[in-house]
Order: sequence, then C-alpha cells, then structure tokens
Amino acid sequence: MSDLHISFEFFPPKTDAMQEKLWQTVERLAPYEPDFVSVTYGAGGSTRERTHDTVARLTHDANFKTAAHLTCVNATKEEVNEVLREYWASGVRHLVALRGDPPEGIGEKYVPFSGGYANAAELAAGARAIAPFEISVGCYPEKHPESASFDDDFDLLKAKIDNGATRAITQFFYDNEVYYRYVERAQKAGITIPIVPGIMPITNFKGLTRMAGMCGTQVPERLISLFKNLDDDAQTRQLVAATVAAEQCLDLSQNGVDHFHFYTLNRADLVCALCHMLGVKKNDVRTAPSNTEN
Ligand code: FAD
Repeated sequence: MSDLHISFEFFPPKTDAMQEKLWQTVERLAPYEPDFVSVTYGAGGSTRERTHDTVARLTHDANFKTAAHLTCVNATKEEVNEVLREYWASGVRHLVALRGDPPEGIGEKYVPFSGGYANAAELAAGARAIAPFEISVGCYPEKHPESASFDDDFDLLKAKIDNGATRAITQFFYDNEVYYRYVERAQKAGITIPIVPGIMPITNFKGLTRMAGMCGTQVPERLISLFKNLDDDAQTRQLVAATVAAEQCLDLSQNGVDHFHFYTLNRADLVCALCHMLGVKKNDVRTAPSNTEN
C-alpha cells in the first residue's frame, strides 16, 4: 500500500460549449479526489478573467483545492501583484508560478516586460511578499529549450525554491528514463522538493508532435511507430493512447512515483482510466496498483 497523490490541470474554456465540456469532465474526475487541480494562464495574460472565473468555480462550486497558474508575460510587477492580491482575497492559496513563453511565440527570444518580473523565481518571491501562497513551479526533464545546460536550469530551480516553491511539476515527457535521470541529477544538485511528473495522455498525435517539438520534448520512435497510419482511426488511436499512458504511469508508479499531475486538456476518459489503474478508485481508499513491487 502506498499513498498516491494526483492533481489535474485544466485550461479556462473559451466558449459556452467548451465550458459545458469542462464541467462534464470535472464531474467525472471529482470522485477521484485530487489533492488539487490547477488552471492554466493564457499567453500574455490573455485568459486573465477566464482563468480567474474558472479558478473561482472550481474552488467554490466544485470544492477543489485550486492552484492558479500565473505568468510574468506582458505585465508590470504592479499588474501581477494586483492579480495576486485578488487571488488571495478570493481564497486562492496555491499558485503555479511561471515565467511564460515569449508573446511572439515559443522559440522567439524572451524579453522580460519592462517593469515586470523577469522569471518564475522573481514571481515566486513577489507572490510570497504579498501572502504566504503555496507555490509550485515548472521544471524540464529534457532541459528548458532556452537553457544552455542542466546546471543553469537547476540554478534557476534552486532560486525558485529559495523564493518559496515547494513543488516542481515537469513538462510532459514520454521517455521515463529521461525523468529518472533528471530526478537523480536534481537530487545530486541538492534539490529536495518533490519533482512531480506531468503526464500528457495523447489525444491527437499530430498536434502532440508539433507541441513536443516546440517544448523540447522528445517523441520516442516507438510512439511514432505505434501511432503510424492511425490518423483516420480515432477509436484505435484512443486505445493505443490509453495503453501507452497506462504503461508510462505504471512504470513510474513501480519506480516510486507517488504523485501524478495530469494535463487533462479538459478531457476525462483517459485520465479516469489512468487514475483507476494506478489504484486511485472513485471515492475510495488510495492503494497502489496490485502489480507494484515496492
Ligand atoms: P523560468 O524557470 O523562469 O525560466 C525558463 C528559462 O528561461 C530558464 O531555464 C532559462 O533558460 C531562461 N531564463 C529565465 N530567467 C533567466 C535569467 N535571468 N537569465 C537568463 N536566462 C533566464 N505557460 C503559460 O503561458 N501558461 C501556463 O499556464 C503554463 N503552465 C505550465 C505548467 C507547467 C507545469 C509547465 C512545466 C509549464 C507551463 N507553461 C505555461 C509553460 C512555461 O511558461 C514555459 O515553459 C516557459 O518557457 C518557462 O516558464 P518557467 O516558469 O519554467 O520559466
């Protein structure tokens, strides 16, 4: 038996139809009783109001502990501080503090906004100066694409921790060895906070490949081969995706991972199945999967 922790990430819906879909997803995922859920923040603050509304509904209507993502993009420190104060006043106690991507698009050079927070470490410090938020931050098992080295990445992660972060959530990855190596390196670098794997179940392989390319996530040859010629066969694709995600999560579980952060993309099917297979049954005591060795 082991204690398993799960968290779900959602994005703020744009339309009424997407809103409806999110709430159907939330209803299906709620019985798995996540430790927390989080809501992303659109590039350049473009979803500021929608993120805020979604956080409020998840907190007050669905009764989740909710983490609000916040970025430094296109905003002065005072503007970000105002959002922070609003969050604290409305009962939000957990932030995912991020720098964000360049407003011109991933791959362009990031230039900190004049008078703004330069990166997630500065944002974490700014948030903690306003209120004692719980702070999670991002980290990159395959290195942040803009970083010269893992050492640079770890220096920044350490600065985030010094400034209040107590959990790092990884960028999505599909090769668990990459994650295990990263955790080992991080520990050697003196990083002791939990490094929670971010799990992205595959719904659209083509879209995923494009996004992975931009984020610096390798898509293993094995996956390319598994999804070959399935573009027009959604049902088979979904079964393959479920198998791939289950294999990934079970291997992580068997290697001691006890917290999974799911990038749900506001969809429930695969995430429900993964929680169930990991031993997180609906409204039930959490147990590790029966084939767990440790
Ligand atoms: P940081 O850790 O602050 O910095 C990233 C990199 O920038 C560093 O590794 C370094 O190479 C460079 N850098 C930073 N500061 C300096 C400096 N002072 N000098 C030199 N180089 C520097 N994006 C969104 O827009 N909205 C979201 O809701 C969102 N959610 C995310 C959730 C998770 C779990 C993760 C992993 C990512 C998320 N992202 C989101 C994407 C994230 O914004 C990008 O990956 C962004 O490029 C880096 O953000 P960060 O907070 O990791 O940046």
